[in-house]
Amino acid sequence: MYEVPKLPYAVGALEPHIDARTMEIHHDKHHGAYVANLNKAMEQASDLAGKSVEDLLRGIERVPEAIRTAVRNHGGGHANHSLFWEIMGPGGGGLPAGELALALDKAFGSFTIFQEKLSSVASGQFGSGWGWLVLNDGKLEIFARPNQDSPYMEGKTPILGVDVWEHAYYLLYQNRRADYLKAWWNTVRWDKVAEKYRKALG
Ligand code: MN
Repeated sequence: MYEVPKLPYAVGALEPHIDARTMEIHHDKHHGAYVANLNKAMEQASDLAGKSVEDLLRGIERVPEAIRTAVRNHGGGHANHSLFWEIMGPGGGGLPAGELALALDKAFGSFTIFQEKLSSVASGQFGSGWGWLVLNDGKLEIFARPNQDSPYMEGKTPILGVDVWEHAYYLLYQNRRADYLKAWWNTVRWDKVAEKYRKALG
C-alpha cells in the first residue's frame, strides 16, 4: 500500500507565497486521491506488490495494460507530489550552492537563465502539468509535461518539479500562473534539490 508522506512542515509554512488552505487541500485531498486510486489499481497487480512508485513508472511498459493508465496518472501524481513537498519549505528561495550551482551554470549558462527557462516552459504548458528539471544520462534538462506524466517514464530522474495544475495556485492567484511561478521560487529549498541531484548522479 502506498501512502501520502507527511508534509515536512506546517500547511501555513510557505505563506505568503502559497496559502495554508491550498496546501491543505492539495496535500490531503489531491495527493490523497492519487494514492487511493493507485492503491485501488494495484489490487489487480499482486505480482508488482512492494515495488516503489518510481520503479513502477520506470517500468510503465511492463505494468499490465488494464491498469497502465491508472498507474501513469495516479502513480505519477503520487511520485510528483512526493517530490514537490520535499523540495519546498520555509526559509526557501535564494540561490543554490556547491556542485548543483556549478552544474546549473554549466548546463544553462547561469542561474538566472535556468530560472527563466523553467518558468517559461512551466508557464507555457497548456492546461495541467508540471515544469521539470531532470537528470538525463548525467545531463541536466528542462521541460514541461502534461497531466501527471512522470520523467521516470522516460528514464529521466526528476530533481525539481513545479506543479502548474490550477489546484496548486487557484485560491490565491486565480488565472495568474506567472505570478504563482514567480512567488514559487521563494519556496524552493536548494539544499533539498542539491540532495536530489547528488543522489541522481549516483
Ligand atoms: Mn498537484
